[in-house]
Amino acid sequence: MQDVAQATNAIRAYYEGLAAGRFLASFCTDCSRYTFPPTGCCEHCGSWNVQTRPLSGEATLLYATHNVTPACHPRFEKIAPYVYGHLKLKEGPVVQAIVLGVRPTPQDLQRLFDGGPVAVKAQTLHMDDLPVLAFALAG
Ligand SMILES: [Zn+2]
Repeated sequence: MQDVAQATNAIRAYYEGLAAGRFLASFCTDCSRYTFPPTGCCEHCGSWNVQTRPLSGEATLLYATHNVTPACHPRFEKIAPYVYGHLKLKEGPVVQAIVLGVRPTPQDLQRLFDGGPVAVKAQTLHMDDLPVLAFALAG
């Protein structure tokens, strides 16, 4: 039950951090890699020797598209249509998240990638029921 409590605490800390604009991950003291979103154990080696550590929020956008179907959850209907993508965090993990500051059109997405690697920065999207991780174009 200790393991369940550790995982629950990591998830609670993640959302509390997100609400305050901090982005937390689990850092494994056995293999020195990050798990994000944080859990009670390392997703790479399975170790439970993890610490909660803040991330820089810096990432590179690897892929982006826009939603052509209804939002995946009612909480997102008010911001639809939106762009979402796969992002590689500076610390290593790849995550999926909403990308702010890009219009959801094929032309705008094409123009975005014509410029080369796209630097993005994490920010919190404050929805009615919970804070959500999002990224905005950096600089
Ligand atoms: Zn590990």
